[in-house]
Amino acid sequence: GAAIVGGVCGQPIKHSMSPVIHNAWIAAAGLDAVYVPFAPAADRFETFVDGLRGGAVRGVNVTIPFKERALAMADTASDLARMAGAANLLLFAADGSVHADNTDGPGLLGAVETQAPGFDAKSAPVVILGAGGAARGAVAALLLAGAPEIRIVNRTLARAQELVDAFGAKVVAVEEAALPGLLADAGLVINATSLGLGGGEGPAADLSLTPKTAVVMDMVYKPLRTEFLRRAEAAGLRTVDGLEMLLRQAIPTFEAIYGVAPSADVDVRGLALTLLGEA
Ligand code: NDP
Repeated sequence: GAAIVGGVCGQPIKHSMSPVIHNAWIAAAGLDAVYVPFAPAADRFETFVDGLRGGAVRGVNVTIPFKERALAMADTASDLARMAGAANLLLFAADGSVHADNTDGPGLLGAVETQAPGFDAKSAPVVILGAGGAARGAVAALLLAGAPEIRIVNRTLARAQELVDAFGAKVVAVEEAALPGLLADAGLVINATSLGLGGGEGPAADLSLTPKTAVVMDMVYKPLRTEFLRRAEAAGLRTVDGLEMLLRQAIPTFEAIYGVAPSADVDVRGLALTLLGEA
């Protein structure tokens, strides 16, 4: 058959780890395929997507700042993408149509499954710090996984309220001042803000207030061990890192674009750690 072209689209794109990950899986599978980074000008995203209609490129990941616009360009969308209001994956069919999906949420659940085995999303409330695109994807996936309540804490309360309006009764927006009480019976605490990125201080949350059975996750993966995760460790809690989320997101993405499961023999985490300068 014809060679398969996939890729990732963002602005900027040069720091994306996705090309290294997907091209390693392509090589291991011996596929006649490639995965290419694209960086359309910010006002040319729609032109870029329209240019791919017809399927010369099978699928593209979409990252900052195009995830919402990607969903808007799609003819059909998965429940998760619609719930999240954002797509991180566009698939192009031969008939010219575009299908949107969101694998960020499943990536989050997969990362928790890998690094905190036995965690049950149905067992206790979830606290999410942040209300941006990443938080939306997390809320969608956690609701589908049966989380009983999701508490959103965000610097801009109105943005947290938008998530409540979008997702309904199981999602509540809470003032930062109420955080201590919210942590006391939480099963999962997630940093979905960009705080801690590049080594700064993470979000202010006293993680010693959570039950000892709680799991703490950071979506930020630069650095890998964020200050937030180090505080969780110091409190004796299980932790899940943002790199695992990124890697787990890539698995269903690869399957959707290339039609085969990625080989478990490729050490993609090792490759990513090298790129991050953490190996
Ligand atoms: P957005 O820009 O959509 O949202 C940013 C969030 O961070 C908002 O809630 C914002 O609050 C909050 N925030 C930013 N600066 C501050 C600050 N100084 N004080 C308090 N809150 C702040 O970004 P995304 O949702 O797309 O991404 C969030 C993070 O998740 C990023 O670090 C991103 O790299 C990471 N991410 C990781 C993924 C992975 O696979 N590991 C996947 C997707 C994202 P406010 O609303 O008040 O501005």
